[in-house]
Amino acid sequence: MTYASTLLGLLPGGRRAPGIGQLVSKLESYLPPDQVDRVRDAHEYAEAAHRGQKRRSGEPYITHPIAVADILADLHMDGATIAAAILHDVVEDTGASTEDVTERFGREVAELVDGVTKLDQVQFKSRQEAQAESFRKMLLAMVRDIRVIMVKLADRVHNMRTLGAMPPPKRRLVARETLDIYAPIANRLGMHSIKLELEELGFKALYPKRYRVIEREVKRARGNQKEFLPKIVKNLGQALERAGIKGEVEAREKHLFSIYAKMRRKRVPLEEVIDVFGVRVVVPTVDDCYRVLGLAHGLYRPMPGRFKDYIAIPRVNGYQSLHTTLFGPNGMPLEVQIRTSEMHETAEDGIAAHWRYKAGETGPGERQDRAREWLKNVAQLNEASAEEMVESVRLDLFPDKVYLFTPKGDIMRLPRGATCVDFAYAVHTDVGNRCVAAKVDRRLAPLRTVLRNGQTVEIITARGAKPNPAWASFVVSAKARASIRQYLRNLRRDEAQDLGAKMLNQALDEFGLSLRKLPDDRLDQVAAYLGLRDGKDLLEKIGLGERLAPLVARRLLPRESDMPPGGPQVPLAITGTEGLVVSYARCCHPLPPEPIVAYLSSGRGVVIHRDNCPNVAGFGKQPDKWLPAVWEKQPQRAFHAEIRVHVANRVGVLAQVAAQIAANESNIEHVNVADEGDDTSVLTFEITVRDRPHLGHLIRTIRGMPDVLEVERSVNREP
Ligand code: MN
Repeated sequence: MTYASTLLGLLPGGRRAPGIGQLVSKLESYLPPDQVDRVRDAHEYAEAAHRGQKRRSGEPYITHPIAVADILADLHMDGATIAAAILHDVVEDTGASTEDVTERFGREVAELVDGVTKLDQVQFKSRQEAQAESFRKMLLAMVRDIRVIMVKLADRVHNMRTLGAMPPPKRRLVARETLDIYAPIANRLGMHSIKLELEELGFKALYPKRYRVIEREVKRARGNQKEFLPKIVKNLGQALERAGIKGEVEAREKHLFSIYAKMRRKRVPLEEVIDVFGVRVVVPTVDDCYRVLGLAHGLYRPMPGRFKDYIAIPRVNGYQSLHTTLFGPNGMPLEVQIRTSEMHETAEDGIAAHWRYKAGETGPGERQDRAREWLKNVAQLNEASAEEMVESVRLDLFPDKVYLFTPKGDIMRLPRGATCVDFAYAVHTDVGNRCVAAKVDRRLAPLRTVLRNGQTVEIITARGAKPNPAWASFVVSAKARASIRQYLRNLRRDEAQDLGAKMLNQALDEFGLSLRKLPDDRLDQVAAYLGLRDGKDLLEKIGLGERLAPLVARRLLPRESDMPPGGPQVPLAITGTEGLVVSYARCCHPLPPEPIVAYLSSGRGVVIHRDNCPNVAGFGKQPDKWLPAVWEKQPQRAFHAEIRVHVANRVGVLAQVAAQIAANESNIEHVNVADEGDDTSVLTFEITVRDRPHLGHLIRTIRGMPDVLEVERSVNREP
């Protein structure tokens, strides 16, 4: 017995809740004994846990989980799903914990129960179409096992069947949610029979008057069709028999909600939707389908443009059938659906048809593979909508999005791993820039908290608050990242300008000047001369070390107001006491009074090279980066130099050379020893000297030592 066959004829009347005995015998018809035992065990556990609890109808609470399990048993779902259905409310509504459930029923069942419990905790608040769509996606994204959704749908079906016990406002709310959220999810998963029941019950609860009007009209129409419909079924059946095709022909039920939806969608009067015959033909093979199509078109004239081949091109949810509309008796349209029994199963139960338990299979993996395979095929056949399919039916795909609520109930979609700061920026850039704290599910949480599906996030802002540079290390959304980066860029610019102004004032001070004493537009003039946007830009460049403050200061002096074109002519005087802004190249270790040039190194200030340094060869390529420079008188500081000493391998030779260096008033900063062969080694000393004559004297002294073969001053290729 399939779910659909129990559904037909029983709608919309109520039914008695099934007992556990009835459920067990249903399970015994398709599940192995050990799986049935587990369900019995689950029932015992749930029965005890819910003892004393009653539903609003007055029935014992346990009747609800049994009914939910029964719906899933009609879909032939596996033992784990049935057990989870029986246990689905124990964690939420009783003292039982997830650990208890895991210990007694295993991880698989416990995870299913946990999934349903989590779904129950998110509340749909808004009624906009787009929000409903997002909410559906959120629910699907939250489950890692699609069976969780199946339990949830069955739960909703039973709650809808027993909705009459609820007060009217609550009834409408649940009905609205059913139509907006759960029926479309069932449809998305191809679970047609579940979808139909949810729609019929939701429609009835939400619009009782409209429901009654359509119900009455459908009854009337059915009376009119009584005369013709059996004849049509018989004609088609005989045509099949003559062609030797084994198939079933049956009249199709019209569902009230779909009639209502069609009226609204196509803006047609009720009669036009109702006065249609509906017939379905189910045959063994795909080939039979197309043959039956031909037979049907032979019996009744087809309406042009109404044939749809959903076998070749299935619907997004995997639905397959041939649809055609014929001119029936009395000129009434006759809608015919033709499909194989396999397609019929999928058409009724969708993904559940693939998840259902089959005798002899080894485990849930097999069912999962079947369902995945089906999804994949569907996705392939619907190339255009494959992405949509994959996005909305997550199955076991790891979702890469999280769905979150604002306190007002709006849904925000963010990348997985998103934090409160990402959320704040998603709400608005200003909210992000001024956020100081966050509440996640009404509890204060650090801003770096990683958010999970379904959480409600409230961002607390403060006037004057600023983004924290540390946020950049944990935000994941593009918007947050870009906003923080933009803010830091501006911040860096402001700071660099402040620093640049300070450096320039310091440099101007040497000439008894300051920025304030200069004419207003002087800085802008110099900036323009240097090819920069304005004075602020120039200050920023100074602060970042891309321009030298002393040099700019001299340009600002009144006597140089008639600046010659073609760049600076006055060489930069190096005193050796400039501090960090001036450094000496490690490649050539310039010493006074050797000829030098200055290189403007972005971020490092000025670097002094010897003018014969091999790295200065690049001079011509970047003329604006190089400045002529000279040593100022006698610089009062020590300079670095590097010498290489080739020595014979004798004990104590390193100590002797080092002692000689020290005796010549030089400090050794670093030494390196390398073998050159069996007999000789190279000692590389990094030393400090006063100037070139000092170094020359030192080299000559060392060269005169007994075990020293050669001494040379090093020049490195690396700057
Ligand atoms: Mn429930």
